[in-house]
Amino acid sequence: MIQKIDLRTTPRAAATPELLKAEAAKVAAIPAERIFRVDITRRSIDARQRNVMVNLGLRLHIDEIDENADTVESPVYPDVSHAPQAIVVGAGPAGLFAALELIETGIKPIVLERGKDVDSRRLDMAAISREGRVDPDSNYCFGEGGAGAYSDGKLYTRSKKRGPTEKVLRVLHVHGAQKDILIDAHPHIGTDRLPKVIKAMRETILKSGGEVHFGTRVEDLILSPDKSECLGVKDASGRRWLGPVILATGHSARDVYHLLLRKGVDIEAKGIAVGVRLEHPQELIDRIQYHSPQGRGKYLPAAEYSMLTRVDDRAVYSFCMCPGGYIIPAASAPGQLVVNGMSPANRGTRWANSGMVVEILPEDIPGDDPLRIMHYQEEIEKRFFEASGNTQKAPAQRMTDFVASRPSADLPRSSYPPGVFPARIDQLLPKPISRRLQKGFAEFGRKSRGFLSPEAILVGDETRTSAPVRIPRMPDTLQHIGVKGLYPCGEGAGYAGGIVSAAVDGIRCAQALAGSPDKSEI
Ligand SMILES: Cc1cc2nc3c(=O)[nH]c(=O)nc-3n(C[C@H](O)[C@H](O)[C@H](O)COP(=O)(O)OP(=O)(O)OC[C@H]3O[C@@H](n4cnc5c(N)ncnc54)[C@H](O)[C@@H]3O)c2cc1C
Repeated sequence: MIQKIDLRTTPRAAATPELLKAEAAKVAAIPAERIFRVDITRRSIDARQRNVMVNLGLRLHIDEIDENADTVESPVYPDVSHAPQAIVVGAGPAGLFAALELIETGIKPIVLERGKDVDSRRLDMAAISREGRVDPDSNYCFGEGGAGAYSDGKLYTRSKKRGPTEKVLRVLHVHGAQKDILIDAHPHIGTDRLPKVIKAMRETILKSGGEVHFGTRVEDLILSPDKSECLGVKDASGRRWLGPVILATGHSARDVYHLLLRKGVDIEAKGIAVGVRLEHPQELIDRIQYHSPQGRGKYLPAAEYSMLTRVDDRAVYSFCMCPGGYIIPAASAPGQLVVNGMSPANRGTRWANSGMVVEILPEDIPGDDPLRIMHYQEEIEKRFFEASGNTQKAPAQRMTDFVASRPSADLPRSSYPPGVFPARIDQLLPKPISRRLQKGFAEFGRKSRGFLSPEAILVGDETRTSAPVRIPRMPDTLQHIGVKGLYPCGEGAGYAGGIVSAAVDGIRCAQALAGSPDKSEI
C-alpha cells in the first residue's frame, strides 16, 4: 500500500533515512517496521526562521514495496525519417525541445547549429580563459546545448502558467538528469552533468530519424517573392534548407537580428537588465542565509539568495545566482568582455556568485532604432574589454569600495578563470546603472546583515540577461506577425528567460507548427 504524507523536519532527519522513517511513522501513525521504503517526492528548504527546516512530500511503501510507484514516463518518439520536415535553427534548450516535440507530432526536425557538439565546444571555452581568444561560433553562448549547456543548470521558472514545465523536467530526467530535479523546489543539474543530458537528447533526435548539423551557421532566410512567407534558410556555405522555420538562435546572435532587419522582417526593441556579477565567499552566504556562525553544516546545501528592490523607478535585483560556482567569460565574439556564472552539480566551490542588475527599458535609450538596446549592450561590453587592455581579464572592485565610489587597493581571490584586476566599476558602468546599484547594495546590506562586505567583489560586466529585441509573433499561431512559416522562438525572440522557459517555448512553437493549417504543405 502507498500512503502520501507531508513532513516538516530538521535538515539532519531529512538526510538520514532511519530518522526520516521514524518521523514518517509518527505522522502516518503506524509502526516504523511497517514502512518498507520512503520516497521523497518534494523537497524545499525553509530558511526564513533561525531554525532551518526542510519541507518534504513523502511516499510511504507500507507492508510491501510498489516498484512501479516512481516510474517516470518517457514521451514516445516515433520514426520520422520519411516524414515532412521542419527546420530548427539553434540547438539551445528552445531548439532541442522544439526538435523533440516535432518528432512526437510526426515531423522530421532538421536542426542547424552554428557551433560545435557539446564536447568539442570545451576546447574553445578553455581558449577564452587561457588565451583570451573568442571563437564567434563556439563559446559559452554558441554550440550544442546553447547558452544553457555550461551553466548552473537551474531549472526553476516563474513562467509556470505558460506551458508544460513538468514535461521539460521529465524529458531532462529520461535523458539522464538526476531524479532530484523532479523533487527539489529549486532544481539544478550542474555544468558537469548537462553535457551528458544534451548528448542523449541529440541521440534521441538522430535515432528517430531527425538530423542535427553542427558548424552550420544560418545566414539568410528564403522568403516568398512578396516576403509574406518563410520557405527555408540558407547557411554560410550557401546550402539551402527548405521547410517552415523555428528560429531559436538565442539572445547573443546579433547577426540574426541584423539579418531580420535587412530582410524587412519586423523586430522591436525590448528591455533588458545590466550590471555586474557579485562574488562572495560561499561560507559568508551560508552564515547569513542559515543564520548560523557554523554556516551550512553537514546537511544543508550551499545557500542561495535572491534580492530585489526598486531604485529611482527601476528594478535592481539579483539574477541567476550560482551557489558554489564560478564566474565565467561569456563573450560571443572578439572585442567583447562579458561575464556570467555557472556551478557544478555539487555546488562545491568556495564562491557564491550572482548577476546584480538594473532594469533598462526601451524608453531609457533615445531613438527608435529597434537595435538601440543591443547597441547599448555592445558599448558597455566594448568599454570593459578596452579597460582590460583588450583581454578577457575582468575589471573588479570590492563591493564596499564600489558603494563608496573609491578604488580598491587589492582584491580577494576570484573564481573567474582569466583573472581579475582592480578597476573603477562605478565609473565604467553607465551612471544610471552604477548609481542604482550603489543604492541597491546599501539597501541589501541593511536587509541582510553581512551581505554588503569588503570580502565580496563586483566583476564586470553582466549584460546578457535577456534578449535586447523581441521578434513579434501572432499569439495564436506563434508565427511572425508578417511572415508565415517563421516561428520566432525562445530567449532570442524575447519569449523566454532561462532554460526551462526556453524549453517550454520550444515545445509550444513545435506544437503550433504541427497544428498549423499549412502543415500539409511541409
Ligand atoms: C553562463 C550561463 C549560465 C546560465 N545559467 C542558467 C541557469 O542556471 N538556469 C537558467 O534557467 N538559465 C541559465 N542561463 C540562461 C539560459 O542558458 C538561456 O536562457 C537559455 O539557454 C536560452 O535558450 P535558447 O534555446 O532560447 O537560446 P540559446 O541557449 O542561446 O541557444 C541558441 C543557439 O542558437 C545557435 N545559433 C545562434 N545563431 C545561429 C545561426 N545563425 N545559425 C545556427 N545556429 C545559431 C547558438 O549557437 C545556440 O546554440 C545561463 C546562461 C549563460 C550564458
